[in-house]
Amino acid sequence: MMVSDSSAPSATLSLARRIVAGLNKLGLALRSHAWRGAAAECLTPTQGQILALLQSMPASDVRGATLSGIAEQLAVTPATASDAVAALETKGLIRKIRDGSDSRRIRLELTREGWRMAERAALWPDFLLRAVGALEPGEQAVLLRAIIKMIRVLQERGEISVSRMCVTCRFFKPYAHADPQRPHHCAFVDAPFGDPELRLDCQDQEPAPATEAALAWERFARGCSQTGTPPEAEESRPFGPAISKEGEETI
Ligand code: SF4
Repeated sequence: MMVSDSSAPSATLSLARRIVAGLNKLGLALRSHAWRGAAAECLTPTQGQILALLQSMPASDVRGATLSGIAEQLAVTPATASDAVAALETKGLIRKIRDGSDSRRIRLELTREGWRMAERAALWPDFLLRAVGALEPGEQAVLLRAIIKMIRVLQERGEISVSRMCVTCRFFKPYAHADPQRPHHCAFVDAPFGDPELRLDCQDQEPAPATEAALAWERFARGCSQTGTPPEAEESRPFGPAISKEGEETI
């Protein structure tokens, strides 16, 4: 059946709405599992999320482990975060300590029992693994890339907190290699990697300066991961020397 040009925008809109409806269903399933997991541990979902967040946080993230940092990352109000933290403290799962480098700052820390509980809470979303595992590896890579793009748009709009993703990391060099399987480069570990290895929450991530991050994003977004073709205009690359397939830097 021929589809007229005039029907294209509404078809696109309809596809976007169906994707949102699908994401909403997944969100409902996640919430439902979180409630069940939390109830089994006598927690609320927010309390469980706080434990899982503290568990995943690098020791160097002094701001993230504060009350305001937690509220920001979970996108809840400071009052909600404060209530949940108070309840977790009463349960002996977290404690408040003064930061060594700034005595005015109070940091949150998991207790031994808190660590055990956090490890269980971090598994709540794992029920989705089987569904994701049913996708072909190529489909998983495309999905991951699409999720990263959506997260970045939402971060830019201030609708979710900034996470430690490759695409905002100063060590991320998109399309630095000619190898279509592993076109990107992580300067932290000095190694090439592909879309399937893109990280959403890397403990070694360091935010890139705004201009550098914008250039890296532009390069990543217009990359051709599906065809394996690196972006054109290599000569205008903004990230210093490219790295050849053999790992040698080229001018
Ligand atoms: S340090 Fe981590 S976030 Fe940064 S590019 Fe390497 S893997 Fe990605």
